[in-house]
Amino acid sequence: TTSGPLLRIAGLSSGYGRVGVLEDIDIEVDPNEIVVVLGPNGAGKTTLLNSISGVARASAGTITFEGRDITGMRPEQVVRLGITHCPEGRQIFQRLTVEENLVAAHIGRAGKSFEALRAEAFDLFPVLKERRNSVASRMSGGQQQMLAIGRALMAEPKLLMLDEPSLGLAPKIVHQIFRIILDLSRNGISILLVEQNVQLALECGDYAYLLNTGKVKLHGPAQEMAEHSALSEHYLGGA
Ligand code: ATP
Repeated sequence: TTSGPLLRIAGLSSGYGRVGVLEDIDIEVDPNEIVVVLGPNGAGKTTLLNSISGVARASAGTITFEGRDITGMRPEQVVRLGITHCPEGRQIFQRLTVEENLVAAHIGRAGKSFEALRAEAFDLFPVLKERRNSVASRMSGGQQQMLAIGRALMAEPKLLMLDEPSLGLAPKIVHQIFRIILDLSRNGISILLVEQNVQLALECGDYAYLLNTGKVKLHGPAQEMAEHSALSEHYLGGA
């Protein structure tokens, strides 16, 4: 094990092709931490996750994971190091069953068997066990989000990146999802969480960054950020 942050992003600029989105970003995630990334639409939150997972290109700066430089690595290499990206809009296989979706997400990264990982996912989300033979498209939005997280866990992440897991879900389900995020972090998975639900995200997170127009505008312990008056100004300013 290495000391220091699990993930360190230093001076990162990145985007798509010639389109620059992020500019000179510094972000750290410590082991066992839940780090929240807030910001208005178009701020660059998804691009940040895409840069870490190797989908968006860094034009400057470095991304270091467990002391290793992963800048410019391909997505399949990044996931094998233990970083899993659970994208916005729950990209699950709609026509496959729950079980088939989980099978397809198992990459055998750290050596746990499929059966062992499936059992862990079923413990966290009993509804996935009940509905293991259901086709994904027949499930509710909340169940589909749980399946998306279940799939991400099949890759045995050390760092789980969640992009707006609460999007479009009923409040009761959102609370369930956040409870599970807390459980995952207690079980030793570090979390990088992009969320529009600012209040809940800051209740659940340890540390938070506010992005706007591709830059970090504010950062601090989640509790302090929750009390920061500038938070709402940035949201209004970016809307
Ligand atoms: P949202 O909550 O709306 O998804 P976001 O903070 O996640 O917002 P991004 O999706 O990272 O923001 O988008 C940041 C900027 O990058 C936007 O101006 C967007 O138009 C642009 N962008 C996003 N994806 C691409 C792409 N594939 N190619 C070119 N530009 C893109």
